[in-house]
Amino acid sequence: MKHLSRSENSRTISKELMRDYNTRAVISLLYNGDPIPRKTISQITGLTPATISNITSKLISSDLIVEVGVGQSTGGRKPTLLDINDDFGHVAAVKIEARRVISGLYDLSTNKIDGNTTEIDSEPDLDTVLEIIRQDLNSYSKTGEVLGVGIGVSGFISDSGTIIYTPILGWSDVPLADVLLTDSSIPVVVDNDVNAFTLAEGWLGAGKDYEDFLCVTVGEGVGAGLMIDGTLHRGAIGGAGEIGHITLDPNGPRCRCGENGCLEALASDYFLRNEIEKLDFKPPTIENLSSLASEGNGQALEIFQRLGCNLGLGIKNLVNTLNPEAVLLGGERLSEADFFMPRLKKEVLNHSFPEEARKLKIVRANLGQEGWLIGAALLAIRNFLNLPLHHKVRSVEKQEVKQLKN
Ligand SMILES: [Zn+2]
Repeated sequence: MKHLSRSENSRTISKELMRDYNTRAVISLLYNGDPIPRKTISQITGLTPATISNITSKLISSDLIVEVGVGQSTGGRKPTLLDINDDFGHVAAVKIEARRVISGLYDLSTNKIDGNTTEIDSEPDLDTVLEIIRQDLNSYSKTGEVLGVGIGVSGFISDSGTIIYTPILGWSDVPLADVLLTDSSIPVVVDNDVNAFTLAEGWLGAGKDYEDFLCVTVGEGVGAGLMIDGTLHRGAIGGAGEIGHITLDPNGPRCRCGENGCLEALASDYFLRNEIEKLDFKPPTIENLSSLASEGNGQALEIFQRLGCNLGLGIKNLVNTLNPEAVLLGGERLSEADFFMPRLKKEVLNHSFPEEARKLKIVRANLGQEGWLIGAALLAIRNFLNLPLHHKVRSVEKQEVKQLKN
């Protein structure tokens, strides 16, 4: 996308215009692809050149789209290319964790402009977290209009942005989006943090080329985002992908949820800390375990390999259920993936159906820890642009653009 500062007398975009079906089709094309001329927009959407001219001139007047140079001529005059104006406004992204709140300010192309991390000493209560988010939003508002806020938090989140239950914070029935909207009047989207991470990887990261993939995150907990046929599957109450609590071993160790032998109790930071406690590692931390493993310490490596084996078994169950093209691995423990990835792959491939296993790709997520916030920012951007929140661009649409360009 193209950067162009908003002129001082630029008009703000009207809600009616953004709701218009044809306008949305034009914005969707420009947002999801490279700059294209009016003629191509007309060919793909099937709208007449006059309609496209009318819509694009309104969007240019409002500064949401901009002319960004000329394309290849197909005989006559070189056509002017159109693109979304990245600097039309900014969005804020927030991730609420067990002991901290991280946030960032992004332009419409998810370039980061500012960021903040606030550590919380004790178990965070709702008022403390709300106060931190409000302070961050206040500070971000000083650099210009904030068009929307996207928030990622672990747990079950309703479509309307209510936290139904979040085990890491112990909160239930918190209408987070409504509470924040009331005092800031900035639109707020809340979703499960792993879902936001999966959307980021699907739109911009290692999942870009796949319509069917699983994004498994391993860190404090274990979670998964399920991208099925280009759409993120949220489940009946936003709880799809809570794979941390599938039972791997009914006689296994106690999990935080109260059950025995959950995947999370056998393959997460919780698992690593429990294993460290049984041994004589000093200091008894995951950082130390990791540095011992990199020095070739057999006990440390064995713990990571067991994590890889257990996580692989959990993933294999999903692979056999959903038959994805790829499994993306992300989360905080990706930094130790060298110690457990080979074992994980072996478990998944050995136990999946041979035909599925032959084609399956197991790859690392590539947006890093920033992916959490980029995903939340994308939710806010797409909400502002009135685009579907949980769909990837269909590859057929991408191909159509490519063909028309050639
Ligand atoms: Zn559990």
